[in-house]
Amino acid sequence: MVFDILTTFPESLSGPLGTSILGRARERGLVSVRITNIRDFATGRHKTTDDAPFGGGAGMVMKPEPLVAAIEHVQALPPGPGGLTVILSPQGERLTQRLAERLVEEPRLILVCGHYEGIDERVYVLAADLELSIGDYVMTGGELAAAVVVDVVARLVPGVLGHPDSPVQDSFAGDGLLDYPHYTRPREFRGLRVPEILLSGHHAEVERWRRREALARTRHRRPDLLESARLSRQDLEYLRYLDASDAGAGQNHQEEHP
Ligand code: SAM
Repeated sequence: MVFDILTTFPESLSGPLGTSILGRARERGLVSVRITNIRDFATGRHKTTDDAPFGGGAGMVMKPEPLVAAIEHVQALPPGPGGLTVILSPQGERLTQRLAERLVEEPRLILVCGHYEGIDERVYVLAADLELSIGDYVMTGGELAAAVVVDVVARLVPGVLGHPDSPVQDSFAGDGLLDYPHYTRPREFRGLRVPEILLSGHHAEVERWRRREALARTRHRRPDLLESARLSRQDLEYLRYLDASDAGAGQNHQEEHP
């Protein structure tokens, strides 16, 4: 999968995209990330990419000509047509795991980073397939948002994560629940013991415990997710049991379901 990032601050992206799993995925050729400097498409002696807003007011606005020229240049690069041109914006569709699962089906994402007061509105009309927000807050620029999108989508590319099942088990993925709690050595740390069941070696019991923890946690922390989660009859029974007992939902790890 190809990620093209269009930015006026290319240096700000070298850190987050070069490390850990993402860095290895790039080395192994599973994903490629190309960074294009929008300033290279600006004309004039000063290569200006922003200007004062029509109508007055504070701040600067990113000019349409260099941005659209940069987008059209990148769209013509391999892998060619196909994929989506995405403008990062706090006003866009909110990034979720579901949306990431759709985006990973694309051969390429072109991610356009704004700055200042934002981007001239005509760029959205002329060149964007999608306006994308990473959350309801405003950042100074789109680069960190683009890095978030690359990270969230790239880890869903087959082969990027070591364990084949791991994206399915994550929060929001698969059945749409929060993930169950994880433990590693030591068995006891500052008086807190790892739940006995995880040391039992009973695979089916461990799976049952994990499912119940995921259900209880989701019910406690994000009950909104239960509305669209894929739940079995046993899941629903357990949730009804939690409702009925109402005993510290989502927090009682030792709780026994009859
Ligand atoms: N004036 C704009 C508004 O209120 O909608 C905010 C512009 S913001 C200061 C500058 C740039 O940062 C945006 O063009 C966008 O590329 C990026 N940005 C800021 N917050 C974002 C978010 N939550 N998600 C995605 N991009 C964001």
